[in-house]
Amino acid sequence: MLEVKNAKIMYGDFVAVKDLSFTIKPGDIFGLLGTNGAGKTTTFRMIMGLLEPTEGEVLYFGEKIGYHNVDEVGYMIEERSLLTKLTVKELMLFHGRLKSLKKEVIIERLEYWLERFGVSEYKDKKIKELSKGNQQKIQFITALLNEPKLLILDEPFAGLDPINTVLFVDAIRDFQKKGSMVVFSSHQLDHVESFCEEVVVLEKGEAIINGNIEKIKDDFQKRNIKIIGDNIDLKKLKSIDGVIEVKKEKEIVYVKIENNDVANDVFDYVKTCDNIIKYDVEKASLSEIFVAKVGEARG
Ligand code: ATP
Repeated sequence: MLEVKNAKIMYGDFVAVKDLSFTIKPGDIFGLLGTNGAGKTTTFRMIMGLLEPTEGEVLYFGEKIGYHNVDEVGYMIEERSLLTKLTVKELMLFHGRLKSLKKEVIIERLEYWLERFGVSEYKDKKIKELSKGNQQKIQFITALLNEPKLLILDEPFAGLDPINTVLFVDAIRDFQKKGSMVVFSSHQLDHVESFCEEVVVLEKGEAIINGNIEKIKDDFQKRNIKIIGDNIDLKKLKSIDGVIEVKKEKEIVYVKIENNDVANDVFDYVKTCDNIIKYDVEKASLSEIFVAKVGEARG
């Protein structure tokens, strides 16, 4: 269990994160989102015990997190900070030893992951000779090597093709099944939506969205309605109080409404139309909520 309680981080006079609270339980996949400079990396450093909050605290299974927990943490950073003159094997020995692993264990795990990611032939190749995507796999393996209980992944999917994305997703799911806590950041909100149950969205160091994704979507009032049918009068739909936008693409009419109550008024009208094949009230996507909340926070 990882608990962040009312944490604040300052760089000199600058407040990078303020009053941040969240909890991650074993087996959780947790999304940490935000626009550039919002405070994600700072938060990652804090939950690894590399930055100490000036206010609040970070508890790892009830005790203050610190460097002594390093053997249980895996961190994949966003930039490729690999020592590119080393071979893959040399790099793993370097990282594995930092995490107190024995040489045989490092080699055994490295071979397992290289095979699983389909890159066994690169074991003795220099990092700089590898393609970007393959360097990313190596970076990912450095984070997995110690079978971390807390796995922190900064933009793990950036630039990956769909096949390799699936390989990463499966590996992360395996760690989840073993009870690891996985925290990752991504600008691809569809990934976050399909992957995490809990999210925090930071904007200028403050959490503007925090909690269970489904609940956040339920609470977010903006709704989209999809209608397919004959003789739907778009002007009439537009004139209903609380309807924000009406548009028709191919045979589907999309209606954006302010809140759930408006859905009833739209439905009352739709009932008077002929041959309605579809009437669906959809929740806003995480991406829509993200854009709206960041917009609100920026005024
Ligand atoms: P990105 O998505 O661009 O990687 P981020 O959400 O990870 O951004 P952080 O790197 O945590 O953001 O930075 C948060 C804020 O803190 C930014 O305004 C940044 O300029 C500032 N900052 C980060 N590191 C330092 C530092 N060492 N000293 C001073 N300010 C810093």
